[in-house]
Amino acid sequence: MSVDYGFIGLIGIIVAAILILLTVLMLIGVLLGYLMIKNGKIILPRLMLPLWDLIYLPLRKIFNWLGFNEKIIAEINVELRNLAYANKFKQIPSIDKILFLPQCLRALDCIASLSSTEGIICKKCGACPIPKIMECAYSIGYKKVYITPGSSFVKRIIKKEKPKAIFAVACLHDLSLGGLLISHFGIVGRAIPLLKDGCICTEVDVDQVINELKEYR
Ligand code: SF4
Repeated sequence: MSVDYGFIGLIGIIVAAILILLTVLMLIGVLLGYLMIKNGKIILPRLMLPLWDLIYLPLRKIFNWLGFNEKIIAEINVELRNLAYANKFKQIPSIDKILFLPQCLRALDCIASLSSTEGIICKKCGACPIPKIMECAYSIGYKKVYITPGSSFVKRIIKKEKPKAIFAVACLHDLSLGGLLISHFGIVGRAIPLLKDGCICTEVDVDQVINELKEYR
């Protein structure tokens, strides 16, 4: 059996061209993303967001592989989306918005219950900042606030509630993946990363969340 070296060579050239193109796109994405965040202004959001949808996961893998801090990539991804969506988010009425809070914000001795349809149901014991944030969101007319037990729950709620905008508090990693998710569903988003992440007893700047809920109502 003869080997078609010409065909194998062609495949090699195509693969190399795709890798070079992806590398160039990643470099452009990181550089432009950084500069836009620095200047507080996003240019061509209709191109930048799909570009980041495409490059975020490969970039994260490369940063991991090189031993760099992948948080930098997640920060650019989240901030870029905040910038891109800022005006649209303000224009959407609060009643079409949903707030997602992470369950890891709860106190260790939390007495909340778990519902498969409603998520974690807070009993307002006052041991964590969740009730204060929920109260603010409802007072400005948010459709619903969910304390999320996991990412599959978020997807289910988006399909059920069909919000036009989502405000989310979570770790940078979850917010970045959430950014890809809302792009997929065509939803506008605003996100605040946790100050201290982890699986339990995480922390967020409560004043920042409340101020932004009001500013972007
Ligand atoms: S305030 Fe709610 S969520 Fe927070 S610890 Fe108490 S019951 Fe749990």
